[in-house]
Amino acid sequence: MDKDLLRELARKYALQNAVFFNGKANAGAVLGKIIADNPDSKNMVREVQLIAREETEKINNLTPSEQREMLTSIDPSLLEKKEKEQRKGLPELVNAINGKVVTRFPPEPNGYPHLGHAKAAIIDEGYARMYDGKFVLRFDDTNPTKEKKEYYEAILNGLKWLGIRPDKIKNTSDDMEKIYKYAEKLIDDGNAYVCFCKIEEMRRNRAAGVECKCREADAMTNKENWKLMFSKLMPSEAILRLKTNMQNVNTAVRDPTLFRIIAGEHPIQGKKYRVWPTYDFSVSIEDHIDGVTHSMRTKEYELRDELYFLLIKLLNLNKTELIEFSRLDMENAPLSKRKINPLIEQKLVGGWDDPRLPTLAGLRRRGILPEAIREFIMGLGVAKSEAVVKMEALESINKKILDPIANRYYFVVDPIRVEVKGAPDKIITDAKIHPDKDEVKSYELNGKDLYVYIAGDDAKDLRKDDNVRLMHLFNIKITKIGEKYMEADYAGNDKAAKKLHWTPANSVRAKIHIFGPVFLNEEFNKNSLTVKEGLLEPYGNNIKEGERIQFERVGYAILEDKKIMKFNLIHG
Ligand code: ATP
Ligand code: MG
Repeated sequence: MDKDLLRELARKYALQNAVFFNGKANAGAVLGKIIADNPDSKNMVREVQLIAREETEKINNLTPSEQREMLTSIDPSLLEKKEKEQRKGLPELVNAINGKVVTRFPPEPNGYPHLGHAKAAIIDEGYARMYDGKFVLRFDDTNPTKEKKEYYEAILNGLKWLGIRPDKIKNTSDDMEKIYKYAEKLIDDGNAYVCFCKIEEMRRNRAAGVECKCREADAMTNKENWKLMFSKLMPSEAILRLKTNMQNVNTAVRDPTLFRIIAGEHPIQGKKYRVWPTYDFSVSIEDHIDGVTHSMRTKEYELRDELYFLLIKLLNLNKTELIEFSRLDMENAPLSKRKINPLIEQKLVGGWDDPRLPTLAGLRRRGILPEAIREFIMGLGVAKSEAVVKMEALESINKKILDPIANRYYFVVDPIRVEVKGAPDKIITDAKIHPDKDEVKSYELNGKDLYVYIAGDDAKDLRKDDNVRLMHLFNIKITKIGEKYMEADYAGNDKAAKKLHWTPANSVRAKIHIFGPVFLNEEFNKNSLTVKEGLLEPYGNNIKEGERIQFERVGYAILEDKKIMKFNLIHG
């Protein structure tokens, strides 16, 4: 068997193995798969073994998202098993025909996507994949005053990061002409009218179940008024309403608004349109245009279901199955753009990607893995029950994935310098980068002029004459305690003594941002960000920007900016 081919195979299987098993491939499994799939490689097992080992090691040095990306580019079909596994949590759909299911995710580009959107998008895409169907990403962009180009991009980036791959991407605003046609059909059929009532009056009437004068106009008048809505001649209060039954028990169906006039520039359409459909109207039409078979949405829309089906009936649209699941609600985390926006406007947080926020951009900076989010969401499933979920649930999944792969380093916070006298020269060779990895962090220490750093918190507990052990090094006996420094004597080897973490003289200055909940008791938590300065062991110079590591005793962190050695704490 050709060696290059062998290496290519080893790389592919190592990637697949790593993606299935939390970022850590097993060389034995890779070897096994090569031999199972290529029986003629049996007579060169030694060589296969060596190559499998080398490739596995290379792949294990990549981050899980790099592994996923690489596998996607080499052979996306190898990802499938993982996706099938991840879909396990979804119950069967009614009336689902394999190959014919079409689902969609319809975000409004009026902010950055958050974990709630991740839930909806993962479920929507999951169902399309489960039935070998199609998944449509549809920007529900019919309110120009709130929407921005930046937000379309943010949604695309967020979904891409989660590994969600739409089969089609489109904008509701591209279908405006078609949507207008449906409006005209309603008007011609006497099912819609232009209303000039002031908004308060309309609300009052709706609550009281009272019909207004505008309702009496005939189809021709309504058509003329509708046309006028497109010109500046019409007052901007004019709206198009559906004519239903003002005494309907469901107030959401009492002559609801279908179109309103919104002046302002649309991020894609510019000033082309002035009359914009409401969510209720556009969703029915768009689901029809996109051939959606199973339409999923959150439970708060329940009262609007009747309207959705009424429009389908009046306009003779395809009937879809409507599936509802609960809105994701997390403790002390705002899962709604309405709640996140004020934090940004008041500059309480740094922006949509502030690591304290449950936005996808924030969670990404925080160091949460996209696969942890998928696992978390699939664990919640599509139940309608509304439970408040704790952020710790997501963190513990993330930790489970990181623990076997994240390299470990020593980092001392608020360092205190300790001078050690009378120590021998020493070479440390037994400090492993990770208990499951062979790589060691080795250090040469010169006994003369030796000093190390210990954490301020540890230093506080030390008294003169205390005998403590510097991990992997030797024991010291404290001889002098000063303001910001200490002195100690070399004290041999007593492994039973209390152990202290330390970093050597040429340590690297680093800082770590530690995040608390962004809300406490419904109010912004003023102490949600703490910055700690400290020293990182010199071996930490090898940490790559974007790499997730573990600081012993501090927690898991991601290196956000290598130039200034700034880390973000992911979780404890
Ligand atoms: P927000 O209050 O954040 O603006 P929204 O529902 O208005 O939320 P959209 O962009 O209109 O946001 O939503 C797109 C899809 O995402 C909708 O189908 C909606 O049901 C879903 N979604 C939004 N927030 C959540 C959430 N917290 N949990 C589950 N699904 C959500
Ligand atoms: Mg919305």
